[in-house]
Amino acid sequence: MQKDIIVVGAGPASLSFLRSMRNCGLAITVLEQAPETSMADPAYDGRDIALTHASRELLRELDVWPCFDQDDISPIAKACVVDGDSPYTLEFDSQKKSFDALGFIISNHIIRRTLYQLTRKQSNLSFEFNASVTSITTTDEGYNVSLDDGRSFDTRLLVAADSRFSKIRSQAGISADINDFARTAIVVRMNHRENHQRTAFECFQYGHTLAVLPLASDLCSVVVTADSDKANRLLKLDDEAFVDFVSQNLDQRLGSMSLASRRFSYPLVGVHARQFVKPHFALIGDAAVGMHPVTAHGFNLGLSSAHLLARQIIDATNNDQDYSSEAVLKGYQNRHIMETRVMYYGTNGVVKLFTDEHLPAKLARKIVLRLSNLLPPVKWAIEKKLTEIKPGHHSPGLF
Ligand SMILES: Cc1cc2nc3c(=O)[nH]c(=O)nc-3n(C[C@H](O)[C@H](O)[C@H](O)COP(=O)(O)OP(=O)(O)OC[C@H]3O[C@@H](n4cnc5c(N)ncnc54)[C@H](O)[C@@H]3O)c2cc1C
Repeated sequence: MQKDIIVVGAGPASLSFLRSMRNCGLAITVLEQAPETSMADPAYDGRDIALTHASRELLRELDVWPCFDQDDISPIAKACVVDGDSPYTLEFDSQKKSFDALGFIISNHIIRRTLYQLTRKQSNLSFEFNASVTSITTTDEGYNVSLDDGRSFDTRLLVAADSRFSKIRSQAGISADINDFARTAIVVRMNHRENHQRTAFECFQYGHTLAVLPLASDLCSVVVTADSDKANRLLKLDDEAFVDFVSQNLDQRLGSMSLASRRFSYPLVGVHARQFVKPHFALIGDAAVGMHPVTAHGFNLGLSSAHLLARQIIDATNNDQDYSSEAVLKGYQNRHIMETRVMYYGTNGVVKLFTDEHLPAKLARKIVLRLSNLLPPVKWAIEKKLTEIKPGHHSPGLF
């Protein structure tokens, strides 16, 4: 039997899309290779996700935001960018402005668990777990999707949300710009003696960067990014030596520190697909745009892609149009591809500038920080973008 829509992957972008489609009247099947337990009760994976105001607004529209426990939402009041050993910093402070926070942090496993708890109750959805998609082929009316257990399904619209390493994207014949940064992010939660005053830090040291996201008053999420060789050495340090490394790099700003979780590592690869749609086919989430985490854009863009695609499909069905036609799907692509392309290459440029150890780059980054601080319009534009709530209009990221 032909399905109206099949979604491959049940990560946070896919679940947001499914939530947006809760009243659409189309029957949707979700194919996820992981077992159901990893959705119903996902383990902490080290990722504490910084969300923009636009994302909060979208999650409110989806009735997801009120389901988060207040204690699981950590507002960011201030952000501070530190360059190498220079005492000069670039600072953003929401308390001096009219908005309640620069952004909000929620742990990735809580976002996934909450979205799954809500979507599993939707009558238009069926989830298939332990269902790994191995191949897809076009048919006269859409796609045929084959699983590793021998089953196959026909669908009118295939949505790929199977991560930045998407196999479905390349099987659909869509190429992507892929940037292997050869760097690895180490993420860990840490306790500290001094209150962080809800300040996020981004410290661009020489040879590595260190980001701190404030959680409870004595708890933060630390992200150390270094070339993969150095990151492997940092992962092998014993706990005490690793804690010393982080405290020193933070210039003891948070007082004495200790580990509050184990260390997790993520190899950093950026991806931007050259097109997001084909007839009967669409990419969302990291499968469309996989960002370097330095500007904390990834899920914010994934949420936006899910919202824009769902809007397009719902409008088409309300107007008796074929929701899987290229013309309809291109409406989503047109609204998402150019803006994300600019952000993708912009972020990669920032990463290059702030990881280049040559003297001209070091001087350039000092100039960039001073100009951003000294020219009020530049700071004002960044703050305005950070706190803009119009869905589909993305902030430049938290840093
Ligand atoms: C260290 C780090 C920090 C980050 N910090 C932030 C942040 O502060 N703010 C932010 O917005 N974003 C952040 N991100 C990015 C964010 O985590 C991702 O953008 C987001 O998780 C992507 O969601 P997704 O649903 O597109 O993909 P994924 O979460 O990768 O989910 C893909 C799903 O597809 C399934 N799948 C894959 N292949 C198949 C197949 N063949 N068959 C069936 N199922 C399949 C997988 O099992 C998985 O469940 C960060 C990322 C990292 C690594």
